Amino acid sequence: MSSNPDVNGERLWDSLMELARIGATPKGGNARLALTALDGQGRDLVVGWMKDAGLTVTVDRIGNIFGRRAGTDAERAPVMTGSHIDTQPTGGKFDGCFGVLAGLEAIRTMNAHGIQTRAPIELAIWTNEEGSRFIPVMMGSAVFIGKESLETTLAQQDRDGLKVGDELRKIGYAGDAQVGGRPVDAYFEAHIEQGPILEIEDKIIGVVTGSLGLNWYDVVVTGMEAHAGPTPMPVRKDALYAASFLLQQVIQIGRGHGPAGRGTVGVIDALPASRNVIPGAVKFTVDLRHSDASVLAEMDAEWNAACERIAAEHGVTVECQLVQNFPPTPFDESLVAAVRNGAASRALPAMDIVTGAGHDAVNMASVAPTAMIFVPCKDGISHNEIEYAKPEDLEAGCNVLLDALLARAQRVA
Ligand SMILES: [Zn+2]
Repeated sequence: MSSNPDVNGERLWDSLMELARIGATPKGGNARLALTALDGQGRDLVVGWMKDAGLTVTVDRIGNIFGRRAGTDAERAPVMTGSHIDTQPTGGKFDGCFGVLAGLEAIRTMNAHGIQTRAPIELAIWTNEEGSRFIPVMMGSAVFIGKESLETTLAQQDRDGLKVGDELRKIGYAGDAQVGGRPVDAYFEAHIEQGPILEIEDKIIGVVTGSLGLNWYDVVVTGMEAHAGPTPMPVRKDALYAASFLLQQVIQIGRGHGPAGRGTVGVIDALPASRNVIPGAVKFTVDLRHSDASVLAEMDAEWNAACERIAAEHGVTVECQLVQNFPPTPFDESLVAAVRNGAASRALPAMDIVTGAGHDAVNMASVAPTAMIFVPCKDGISHNEIEYAKPEDLEAGCNVLLDALLARAQRVA
């Protein structure tokens, strides 16, 4: 049994639904793109709730919001939790919002039960996690950890040429606090899974042990364009035909390193894109992922070998360029254990899982011990207006978050 109180699941759900009214879409989703007027309204609503809960609110220069609940030991760095409230253009009600409002609900529960923690608790709302309107994705946390420069990021423009810095000012969230350099004792983030594994395995809590590493490649296959009629099959250098073998390799490499292996071709262009011309060039993207850096390196070697072999077999050239690499990020073992214990003490069916998607937590892991808590989302679907999570699962995830926050904040340093 958990010795902690239970969160108020109804209050959590009601807050989620109230936030979801801002930027509601006809199909039941949310469109609250980063730094739009609607994002501003969403921020105002949640900041109001933070203040009602007695939190001291600070906004930094990239618009990250921190709400602090004092601890009994003013010397201690805060135990932080949070996520984001911006959404995709056709996003759902739970991606990000759950992490922020679960943190708020955990704090409201501490308030309701008069729980004083040794370490302060901080609730964070990170700017522009989705990266839909402005790049990079996970912007606020990336600047916070020093991975992106503040000046460059403030100058980023959307498709209409509007700048991050100006848009922050317009919605009233160009804060004056320094970005980063804020001590963090630990960071927990609750999130919907955005995949189908918990549902398939019939579990309620995903104990996230880390994130998948990824390699992105841009590939160009060059053969020779020729007339589709007069050119006999044996003499062709068909770039698209050769590429079809490469595409299969990508999938096989992903499948061959399961369950944590992934291989995806997301974009493909055949040129000159004419129905009676044998394609002379094909450009495509490759996304390989794995939770283990050495396996990801193996997948990279297999992929490069496949490029060479298929180029030779088909008499084409294959140029493959690695354009992005994120190493796998293992989360902190003691924080992961706190999540696992929370689930166990509340008798919630749980399993270890890795995150295939990027999260602010993955950035935070480079500056503070970090862990995440996943709850199931219906059919594993997110970044979609039909995204759905059950109230009882969200409540369960929030209870585990409360337990994990308290376990860390009450620790005798
Ligand atoms: Zn998210």
